[in-house]
Amino acid sequence: MYTVPKGTKDVLPSESYKWHYIEDAVRYTAELFSLKEIRTPVFEHTELFLRGVGGTTDIVNKEMYTFEDKGGRSITLKPEGTAGVARSVIENSLASGALPLKMYYISPIFRYEKPQAGRLREHHQFGVEIYGADTAECDVEAMLIVKTFFDKLGLRNICVNINSIGCEHCRPNYNKALTDYYKKHEDALCGDCKDRLQRNPLRLLDCKNERCLALNPPKITDYLCESCGNRFLEVRALLEELAIPYEVNTKIVRGLDYYTGIVFEFINKNIGAQNTVCGGGRYNKLSKELGGAEIPAIGFGMGIERLILTLESEGLLEVTEKTPAVYFAPLDKECAKKCMSITNELRSRGVRAETDIMGRSLKSQMKYADKTACEFVVVIGSGEKETARYVIKNMSTHEAFEATEEELYVFFSQKSK
Ligand code: ATP
Ligand code: MG
Repeated sequence: MYTVPKGTKDVLPSESYKWHYIEDAVRYTAELFSLKEIRTPVFEHTELFLRGVGGTTDIVNKEMYTFEDKGGRSITLKPEGTAGVARSVIENSLASGALPLKMYYISPIFRYEKPQAGRLREHHQFGVEIYGADTAECDVEAMLIVKTFFDKLGLRNICVNINSIGCEHCRPNYNKALTDYYKKHEDALCGDCKDRLQRNPLRLLDCKNERCLALNPPKITDYLCESCGNRFLEVRALLEELAIPYEVNTKIVRGLDYYTGIVFEFINKNIGAQNTVCGGGRYNKLSKELGGAEIPAIGFGMGIERLILTLESEGLLEVTEKTPAVYFAPLDKECAKKCMSITNELRSRGVRAETDIMGRSLKSQMKYADKTACEFVVVIGSGEKETARYVIKNMSTHEAFEATEEELYVFFSQKSK
């Protein structure tokens, strides 16, 4: 028997309605904020991620699904959404139109990671990218999109954590302070962090190892230049003005090299170790890095599987699936034709109607109607076919009434409105 590859998951027919519910909330929020959808390929040239995501990140170093295609090109399955969108913005000159350019996507993301609860090798992200503005208002707008989306889903116990990781002027000083600190505590570091210390000390702050977490490194907020420091204050003031609860969390550095300035994560303390549902930040240097014009931008990515865990842990995913409004049960093959024709007419009027396509006995058809929670059942035998009068039975109250074919159409069409 074949099994699904490690770290991947089927969305089964019995649970896909949960995804639709979330995707509907994504589109609802996108409309409110005038975000337009962008769809980029599932794979890109590997080089894009090496440059865009950065050679010192875990994603590029350890997690990419890279292969050579039959034409000898190095191809990588998207390990995140931002670089592909940036490539498309440059290639299609999207930023030469009206600004700000506001986009969203829902996309599969591939990372070769150790699978565990909330950590998969294929997961899905709802992401947003906003190009063209470099203001505190834009930073807060990105957070407001997440907040509005969570509100729509009824999710309230999830707090935005913010930090600034500085810019090319102030980050080098901080990197030096961090390196000095960690060098003094090198014995306490995990193997990965010893390695990170050589390449990118900021990455150490992101480590989930308990020994590394127990250390008390200097805080970047003490090293920000005037411009980064002022922006951070402005963002905080705006969040306060809007009465949005937030926490300053100086351990947030984000896993990608392209971030500068404001970074944020939405953290749910109830879903265990993998508790960051959404992460984002400003990446003003990415476009230039990829060969485009310098254009400021901010974005976030939200893991849909982690969002589902969060919603379930809070009892917020008890949405109900739509069931068939009516099931037509034929007693023989001749009646099956009539059932198909009535079902067909009802569907053309927008009614969720079902009939037997398995040639089953009445008893097993009734079991099926019951299992699939059909609201009404109509049994059609030769008598009903001749008189063209049908008995419509309500499956939950067991009440029944008689109707002509036209009355039946009217009744179900009106119920489905
Ligand atoms: P983590 O610190 O948990 O590894 P990350 O910093 O790698 O997260 P991002 O690259 O910011 O995550 O991705 C955005 C969001 O995508 C995360 O906040 C999370 O909800 C989700 N996500 C990331 N990696 C995975 C994964 N392997 N499986 C499921 N969801 C994931
Ligand atoms: Mg990660």
